Amino acid sequence: MKITLKDGSVKEYSEAKSVYEIAKDISEGLARAACAGEVNGEIVDLRTEIHEDSSLNIVTASDEAGLKVIRHTAAHVMAEAVKRLFPDAKVTIGPAIADGFYYDFDAEPFSREDLDKIEAEMKKIIKEGHAITRYTLPREEAIQFMKEKEEPYKVELIEDLPEGSEISFYDQGGFVDLCAGPHLMSTKGIKAYKLISSSMAYWRGDSEKARLQRIYGTAFNKKEELKAHLDKLEDAKRRDHNKLGREMGLFTTVDVIGQGLPLFTPKGTKMIIKLQRWIEDLEEKEWGYVRTRTPLMAKSDLYKISGHWDHYKEGMFIWERLD
Ligand SMILES: [Zn+2]
Repeated sequence: MKITLKDGSVKEYSEAKSVYEIAKDISEGLARAACAGEVNGEIVDLRTEIHEDSSLNIVTASDEAGLKVIRHTAAHVMAEAVKRLFPDAKVTIGPAIADGFYYDFDAEPFSREDLDKIEAEMKKIIKEGHAITRYTLPREEAIQFMKEKEEPYKVELIEDLPEGSEISFYDQGGFVDLCAGPHLMSTKGIKAYKLISSSMAYWRGDSEKARLQRIYGTAFNKKEELKAHLDKLEDAKRRDHNKLGREMGLFTTVDVIGQGLPLFTPKGTKMIIKLQRWIEDLEEKEWGYVRTRTPLMAKSDLYKISGHWDHYKEGMFIWERLD
């Protein structure tokens, strides 16, 4: 088979090869840096075997897709750490997201102290450097397997997959998780990570379903990249208008009105009026704008012309004359 690489060069093999084997054949360094493969445009596991002529791009941590694999693998390492420390916790799902990853557990709420302990346990798992291996089971066996492990959420996930399908699992030194992948070849590939926060989340985002505890984390290829990201988060916290506005006594909120609806204090109101005057002056004097005022309501005739009357009448505030 012929494998066409990103630079246009072609490699020929007489037998099937995994993405990892091909990366290794190109160079040892590339194999070390590899996170996944892109085969004919699709991101796949390094373990994926290629059997026929294909285009192949070796994905590394400098690609967004590679970073995603690192983060997703970190989510599994976190799940293992949680199960070691909190054996009663039930695992659910743990995807990579923008800037990091999360994993949802059916467990008691996690404190910052818990997160620190989980982080320390992750360090151990990474140091142990378990190889991550993939295998599949027929759907029925997969359901049985997760029932025996007393993981009801995983059972539900597998039951949702079509009958007759092969279900993939990943084993990292004895901790087995249901997943479609792709994953790194070893837990050692996670070099810089941090658990950010924890909050409540519903199973499958449905408020009628179980309340879960979500742990957010992030992972990068290099310690410096992680530090830059964490600094940015700290900075954003310092500039948070919700925190600053309260500290400066500009506004407050009360539950009976709603936490997203600020009540401006005299000081805050004064600030708004000053800002308003400033922008009005700027518009008039600098930009030559001229202000006008129009009524807030109009006869229905106007909305009949505009088309609103026919399409949005149900949602409009209508004042009818009774005479
Ligand atoms: Zn996974």
